[in-house]
Amino acid sequence: MTEKYRHLYVVIEHEDGKPVPVSLEMLGEARRLMDGFNRKYRSDEKVVAVVLGHNTRKLCEELIFFGADAVIYSDSKEFEHARNLVDTKVISEIAKDRELASKFSEATDFVKPRYMFFAADNIGRQLSSTVLAELESGLASDINKLVIEDLEIKHEHKTKGQGLMYEKTLEMYRPDFSGFLWTTILCLDNRNPAIAREYHPQACSIIPGVFAPIERDTSRRGIVVDHQPSFSERDLKVRVIGRKIVKSAVDFDSHKAIVSFGRGVKESPEENVRLVAQLAEQLEGEVGVSLPISKKPFAVSEATNSKYMIPDRVVGTSGRKVAPLLYVAVGISGAMQHIVGMKESSFVVAINPDENAPIKDECDIFIKGRMEDVIPVLLEELQKQKPAIRAK
Ligand SMILES: Cc1cc2nc3c(=O)[nH]c(=O)nc-3n(C[C@H](O)[C@H](O)[C@H](O)COP(=O)(O)OP(=O)(O)OC[C@H]3O[C@@H](n4cnc5c(N)ncnc54)[C@H](O)[C@@H]3O)c2cc1C
Repeated sequence: MTEKYRHLYVVIEHEDGKPVPVSLEMLGEARRLMDGFNRKYRSDEKVVAVVLGHNTRKLCEELIFFGADAVIYSDSKEFEHARNLVDTKVISEIAKDRELASKFSEATDFVKPRYMFFAADNIGRQLSSTVLAELESGLASDINKLVIEDLEIKHEHKTKGQGLMYEKTLEMYRPDFSGFLWTTILCLDNRNPAIAREYHPQACSIIPGVFAPIERDTSRRGIVVDHQPSFSERDLKVRVIGRKIVKSAVDFDSHKAIVSFGRGVKESPEENVRLVAQLAEQLEGEVGVSLPISKKPFAVSEATNSKYMIPDRVVGTSGRKVAPLLYVAVGISGAMQHIVGMKESSFVVAINPDENAPIKDECDIFIKGRMEDVIPVLLEELQKQKPAIRAK
């Protein structure tokens, strides 16, 4: 007998057939988890990539090289651009389709996937919530660690106070309270007869940049299964009539240095942002910010707000991933969501009066001090040394 909840489905995002990095990262983690799962439970559950696209069949083969056992591919010109209504409908249908599942495994009792992954980006965050609502299960968002365990759970409502074993439970960890504490989220069936109900898939959205893809291996074999989508008029009521990619004026890529500031500017924000901007200018660098800064938390001039305190400058999981030669973190505590965005930098300097701030563990040089005191000294020194550097 097979189990009715089987396999790990990974919803792939791509740009014209090129996978976005988080898609391969999710596949890598899915591969590692399911290899462990199959060893531990002596089973043969699959990593299944789900792709909606148009003329993107070649991508399916790539996904097998990056860890998928099977790829469910739905092709339609309606998938040229991501649209939540259409994508939700088709992905939910795919997840419940026993016929499709039977193409890559014995699936007589298959009802839904056991686990499901989405990207925690603008598209995936919304899509994961609407798909899971359709599938009538729960969702943990912005996850950065995953473990599969057998857990004994005793819960007033779920188990009616009895200790019961929940096998193959996905522990989904997310950073909370400004990224300094972990929350573990479990998606558990109600085993209390009075409120009995099953919750599958156990699903989450995954923070980009956290997991490593597996190495591309062209000898890996898998199966591509075609899905024929069908649409009603209602599904297609949102139409994309034009798409323009607006290039950001913030240029993190061609600058060798980035100076980012966070809430540590708070004592005199206008003056402190000016200091940060001067430091960036001296280093011929770009200015970045932590996420809270983009919410314009301080009373500063409109010019400062609109030039610096903007989402385009955010470094981290909700913003950009950067990799400059020099990254200077000024008044930034070092929450995990920020670190993910700058950890590829070659050399990191942090300026912070709190030597217990987590950024201390992420930098090459930690300058203990207030930015108001430290930056003027740095500026003076840079001015002195610049002629000598130029002469070299
Ligand atoms: C789903 C989700 C996504 C997120 N995405 C992002 C993201 O992409 N990017 C991001 O940055 N955050 C993100 N966050 C927020 C993150 O968790 C932290 O809350 C945030 O990074 C903290 O910003 P901060 O370091 O500026 O502020 P704080 O944590 O308040 O740190 C301020 C620091 O300034 C120091 N300081 C104080 N006075 C001075 C001074 N005079 N001179 C110098 N230093 C001083 C303090 O010691 C402190 O370490 C996200 C959170 C969630 C829940």
